[in-house]
Amino acid sequence: MTTHIKPQNLVKGATGDWEVIVGLEIHAQVTSRSKLFSGASTTFGSEPNSNVSLVDAAMPGMLPVINEECVAQAVRTGLGLHAKINKRSVFDRKNYFYPDLPQGYQISQYKDPIVGEGVVTVDLTPTEQIEVGIERLHLEQDAGKSLHDQSATDSFVDLNRSGVALMEIVSKPDMRSADEAKAYVTKLRTILRYLGTCDGNMEQGSLRADVNVSVRKPGDALGTRCEIKNVNSIRFIGQAIDVEARRQIGILEDGGKIDQETRLFDPSRGETRSMRSKEEAHDYRYFPDPDLLPLEFTQDFVDGLKAALPELPDAKKARFMAAYGLPPYDAGVLVADKETADFFEACVAYGGTKRDAKIVANWVNGDIAAFANSQGVSVPQAHITPAQIAGLVDLIADGTISGKIAKDVLAILISEERDGDPRTIVETRGLKQVTDTGAIEAAVDAIIAANPEKVEQAKAKPSMLGWFVGQVMKQTGGRANPQGVNDILKRKLGI
Ligand code: MN
Repeated sequence: MTTHIKPQNLVKGATGDWEVIVGLEIHAQVTSRSKLFSGASTTFGSEPNSNVSLVDAAMPGMLPVINEECVAQAVRTGLGLHAKINKRSVFDRKNYFYPDLPQGYQISQYKDPIVGEGVVTVDLTPTEQIEVGIERLHLEQDAGKSLHDQSATDSFVDLNRSGVALMEIVSKPDMRSADEAKAYVTKLRTILRYLGTCDGNMEQGSLRADVNVSVRKPGDALGTRCEIKNVNSIRFIGQAIDVEARRQIGILEDGGKIDQETRLFDPSRGETRSMRSKEEAHDYRYFPDPDLLPLEFTQDFVDGLKAALPELPDAKKARFMAAYGLPPYDAGVLVADKETADFFEACVAYGGTKRDAKIVANWVNGDIAAFANSQGVSVPQAHITPAQIAGLVDLIADGTISGKIAKDVLAILISEERDGDPRTIVETRGLKQVTDTGAIEAAVDAIIAANPEKVEQAKAKPSMLGWFVGQVMKQTGGRANPQGVNDILKRKLGI
């Protein structure tokens, strides 16, 4: 999809420029109450081995039963990725040995996945997009977890995660830099959260990335790639790509060749290291799981899910621009988080009044976001309500306070009067804007009379006006209407 080379993406080597090629396989845990093939709970953080059914423990003779909600979640995700939904797909056994995989195989999908090709519009900035192709999405089971740090002599296994449904979302090798890959994961996570199909919580392992990296001289065929397994933060994804590309360029420039292999990223040392040589698909001896029939559903099932999809970020952004007249930047920042976008709309329309959306967006994306950020929470969790924001914006709009005083009122709402009403605060604290020209004129006259040299200077150099504005504001406690102050000063100073 990315067809032309952007110079800023090229990496300089000793022998010239290199192009970095990135494709991602994202494992996204499906939001569902029970596992993919059993009724055991998916609750995170339970006592080890408390959410394990006989199916998850792979007791002989147990039979998997597909969880219809997990299938629906995969289809919703496919629709959200503008992808082809395969009404017939097949579950296969992928055979390998891990201590935390008691079946001895993972039930996955190989040749016939539930979702085929799609596309994600990735926001590099709120105003610059690229398209990244989706190769496929398939459903599979997660494995359990080996615990090596509980005892000096023994390892333990926790099977709570064993059998939890994952969506493996495979991109095309369409990304050309760490920044593009980070933006892709960010957007994919936003889409999954809008859809409610994965919580996107990387700290809890709900979203993990296998990062495929190769390098080539611009115009050459694709190079040999290495896969960096299980990177669990967006920042680490970027770091892993940069160091892996550097490593490969170093080898190639020294006349070596890249071995296709699976590697691990060590964030503390800032390096990737070999984990195992890459297996080929045939090493896994994939075959259709004889315990499961092919998964088939009707077009009606797909259509029903499609009709119930929520508005997705790209559509919301377009609507915010069209309906509210917002610039792409403002709309893009707002829709990056669904709850923030909802909060913005609640502010604009609070109490049935329609407010200036751009001014509301400035507050939400500016002072309110900064405050929320300082608290480490999202905008809607920052203890400022749509009623309070609407109140502030209305006070500015009707001329009761200036934008500058509004910031003071916000500071009071944040620090002293958490549940306060902006209008009451303005009234009880005497913050009302002085629009009475008589009062402003009196202040201006007093300052002019007290500062004859400054008056002379201002006449020669009109940029001195700012000093006078500052003095009037000081005298009026910042409450004078700024436009009125400017007009009166200019008239009285004759500039
Ligand atoms: Mn997988």
